Amino acid sequence: MLFAGTNGYQGRGGLPEYVQSVKVGIGKEDGMRLENLIPYQKALMDKIPHGHKIKDEHMGSVVAVLGLMEEGHEYLNSIGVKAWRANPQPREEQLEELTDMLFFYLELVILSGFSVDEVEIEYKRKHAVNMDRYKRAEQNDYGWDTRGQKEGL
Ligand SMILES: [Mg+2]
Repeated sequence: MLFAGTNGYQGRGGLPEYVQSVKVGIGKEDGMRLENLIPYQKALMDKIPHGHKIKDEHMGSVVAVLGLMEEGHEYLNSIGVKAWRANPQPREEQLEELTDMLFFYLELVILSGFSVDEVEIEYKRKHAVNMDRYKRAEQNDYGWDTRGQKEGL
């Protein structure tokens, strides 16, 4: 169950001290009321200088990423990843969904201003990085992964 508050908080590593000093009144003893979180979220949103407005020049990329996400979900559905709907679609329909993703990816490449050559070079660079990571993982070496090592996260 999602809850926030100073009393009974059981999240990762406890709350920072400055947060503990704030009585938010939505701890376990008060019951979880989502509406009590709304003022907190509104205060946070007021700090966003552009008010969540997306610049016109970014809208095409936003729509393309949404399309890529949608097609990714359609592809996953087509191969039957849902436990409650596990029958895969015919292969030709899976191929269509997989290809639908490519449309949006190529749209993103065009909108980004990067050339296909730049993407290819970057792909090969990142491929080498990822291969190195797998190679190190085989040796149980995850030294490159520093996630979770910062305090207060
Ligand atoms: Mg589709």
